[in-house]
Amino acid sequence: STREGGRRRVLLKLSGEAFAGGGALGVDPDVVHKIAREIATVVRQGTEVAVVIGGGNFFRGAELQVRGMDRARSDYMGMLGTVMNCLALQDFLMKEGIETRVQTAITMGQVAEPYLPLRAIRHLEKGRVVIFGAGMGMPYFSTDTTAVQRALEIHAEVLLMGKNGVDGVYDSDPKTNPDAVRFDALEYAEVIARDLKVADLTAITLCKDNGLPILVFELLAEGNIARAVKSEKIGTLISQ
Ligand code: UDP
Repeated sequence: STREGGRRRVLLKLSGEAFAGGGALGVDPDVVHKIAREIATVVRQGTEVAVVIGGGNFFRGAELQVRGMDRARSDYMGMLGTVMNCLALQDFLMKEGIETRVQTAITMGQVAEPYLPLRAIRHLEKGRVVIFGAGMGMPYFSTDTTAVQRALEIHAEVLLMGKNGVDGVYDSDPKTNPDAVRFDALEYAEVIARDLKVADLTAITLCKDNGLPILVFELLAEGNIARAVKSEKIGTLISQ
């Protein structure tokens, strides 16, 4: 392996909101380009990278439900939104010269492969990036939970959770409380007991039950994806 002291295989969870850039909706190509360049760098250094992208820049099922829509149907809209983010990232990764496959949990043969875990692992071994779209294909779940499940199934060493505009986990919301304190490290049990806003409980519990470490870090800070892959001291590391 040509890996330079980094992780061998990682699952990178990207917030959908980050993809919107300054705009409230849709995809900002400049942001996606920047993320693709950073992923390409770590792939060239020999790390196998799988990606799950959220869909918060398009639709969130729970928000549409509040507006009177059927929850399951609006969750499907949410899942379809994530696929657009996946295709945008695939495009910019291909432009960087990185072979990339999108696999979706809802079958759509013209745009992506179906989710096939063994094939995904094979792609990763060949140095291809694999992007998992459409969440888990099931309403009432989140892309955070999807990220944990996919990370476990493809045997990723760590879940790298790239956040939009926050550089880790705090004891209170740093956007509203200037005295909020950031944690360098946390145990799963603490995240659950203190109800810290890292990911939904389903995702955290799944991590805890299976001992999958999560690194929460600021996604768009220059060079941060490489730092996260090299296990440098950034963000908040959640483990047993
Ligand atoms: N979603 C779902 N099942 C899944 C994954 C996602 O129903 O397995 C839907 C859900 O409505 C969610 C939306 O897709 O709100 C977008 O994903 P998420 O909110 O996790 O995106 P993020 O907040 O990470 O951008």
